[in-house]
Amino acid sequence: RRDTLLYLNGVTKSFDGFKAINNLSLVVAKGEMRAIIGPNGAGKTTMMDIVTGKTRPDEGEVYFAGDVDLTQEDEAAIANRGIGRKFQKPTVFEGHSVEDNIRLSLAGSRSIFGALLHRKDAAEQSKIDGILATTRLGEKRRTPAADLSHGQKQWLEIGMLLAQDPELLLVDEPVAGMTDAETEETARLLKEIARTRSVVVVEHDMHFVRALGVKVTCLHEGSVLSEGSLDHVSADPRVVEVYLGR
Ligand code: ADP
Repeated sequence: RRDTLLYLNGVTKSFDGFKAINNLSLVVAKGEMRAIIGPNGAGKTTMMDIVTGKTRPDEGEVYFAGDVDLTQEDEAAIANRGIGRKFQKPTVFEGHSVEDNIRLSLAGSRSIFGALLHRKDAAEQSKIDGILATTRLGEKRRTPAADLSHGQKQWLEIGMLLAQDPELLLVDEPVAGMTDAETEETARLLKEIARTRSVVVVEHDMHFVRALGVKVTCLHEGSVLSEGSLDHVSADPRVVEVYLGR
């Protein structure tokens, strides 16, 4: 487990006797970006729920950064360990500017007024500027989040997660509903983020997965069906069958 950031071994989770996750093993290295694919019901969401502590596994090991046993921690403790999750639907503060959204996320537990009114220091501003540059939202810094495009809102939410400095970022279908140009930009953004952090992306859009150019894990019936390059996985007859044979 030493060089792994995320380590799942023999994980099982049943709902009413149905195994949503069935003896799942998955290892993500430090600094790796991994794409998770698989048909509806494969267990992708449940897997993310287990890693973030939203759901407790019935059996199996889940370790973070080598020796942190995530099965023993609650959601808040896991987030504090440096695991950030982005859900499909962006949740930004619509009435606040792009920059203030990031400032609020940086402030974390401070109250909204406290975060916006406290004396602005240079270190904080430079962190915000860095995030605005990464997410290419610099020109929108004073724009209310409500006025952003769907794609820009997704990038803002990713920026808000970056403000919390996660070591592992879990991202759920980031390009759903995006234009082709936004999808391309999202691939660039995630690749840039993955230079300094680990990223796990659940995604259905195969053009996007190809653009990421990373190792792919295909889940099916709660366990790993196939793993490797996208070319390897998409040529795997078992993968072809679960995608086409339905
Ligand atoms: P995916 O995200 O790959 O579509 P999910 O993890 O959402 O798959 O679901 C895997 C299976 O587990 C599905 O059959 C789903 O109906 C079932 N499942 C997930 N969560 C629950 C729950 N809370 N209660 C009952 N069944 C669930």
